[in-house]
Amino acid sequence: MKILAIESSCDETSVALVSKSSGQVEVVSHVTATSLAQHIQTGGVVPEVAARSQLDYLHPTITQTLSEAFQVRLPSGQPVLENLISQIDAIAVTQGPGLVGSLLVGVEVAKTLALIWGKPLIPINHLEGHLYACFIKDPASPKTPKLPALGLIVSGGHSEFVHIGEDHQVKFLGGTRDDAAGECLDKCARLLNLPYPGGVAIARLAEEFRNNNREIKLSTLPRPLTHEETLDFSFSGLKVATSRLVQERDDLTTSRIAAEVEQAVVDVLVSKSLVSVKTQKPKSFLLVGGVAANNNLRKTLKSSLKAHHPLIDFHTPAVEYCTDNAAMIGARACFINQSINPIELKADPGQKIK
Ligand code: AMP
Ligand code: ZN
Repeated sequence: MKILAIESSCDETSVALVSKSSGQVEVVSHVTATSLAQHIQTGGVVPEVAARSQLDYLHPTITQTLSEAFQVRLPSGQPVLENLISQIDAIAVTQGPGLVGSLLVGVEVAKTLALIWGKPLIPINHLEGHLYACFIKDPASPKTPKLPALGLIVSGGHSEFVHIGEDHQVKFLGGTRDDAAGECLDKCARLLNLPYPGGVAIARLAEEFRNNNREIKLSTLPRPLTHEETLDFSFSGLKVATSRLVQERDDLTTSRIAAEVEQAVVDVLVSKSLVSVKTQKPKSFLLVGGVAANNNLRKTLKSSLKAHHPLIDFHTPAVEYCTDNAAMIGARACFINQSINPIELKADPGQKIK
């Protein structure tokens, strides 16, 4: 079964052709364009700019994905194109959550292709897509996640714990009461005059600092809600505390504060993850989303879970599948395969996991 997947929820325009065999998803071809360079200039994503870029990038991205998948040069003659299209079984697209203008571009193009090519259309929740990045074949980590699983989705807009049942149903368990983990990193990076996306800049400085100052304990910032059993997070206080550090502690370098911020976020996420597995008893734990690209978080969570819950398998996608990509959307579609009449599909910017 081959699925053509489209992801356009924010500033990445991504298209992938994926196929599923023996419980894992293989990426046949995958092309991602991004308007990040324009957002670096403004220090964050400008929705109108992101949506316009989606319009510019989507058509060439689809063409390139198909060209690479079938190793032909497109545009090509009608018989070649028809032959390629006949090999696609379904189209998957991100329905939400995301920026309305960006989502609309992907959704309307997917609906049009499904109608004119006569293919089933599978709408996908972007956050569920992030989870299924763990089902993409990865030579570095050949095991497929066992279900039921517990997922921690940490991105620029979301920090959520979810349960994935043996039937692949995803249920919300807890999440942030205010800022998401990535949002907190991005805002703290701004306080430190670091470039967008702030999480990446903080990670780079923090790693440098840790490598040169292994003896320093990073403990100047609070770890909100870690003394409560709740699976909720609250990251806004961390941003306020960081602002105070920046204003009041002239003795601390930028890289020291970056390391303090990263460590506080990692400690909160790891501590809550340990609470979550204690109550849910999953067979595997999935760490996904843009913040899952963070090395310190990947290593610390993996080793903490191994130490406290050795029977739970830890999975996190290859870094290229942590940030927004269409392969994960195709991967999720491989496991749910619930199509909708294209005419009825609407972008849903506020879509939630229930
Ligand atoms: P997403 O919303 O899933 O596209 O992820 C974007 C978020 O991930 C932004 O808040 C980034 O700052 C954050 N991010 C990306 N890479 C890293 C990293 N290596 N360490 C920490 N945060 C990161
Ligand atoms: Zn995302």
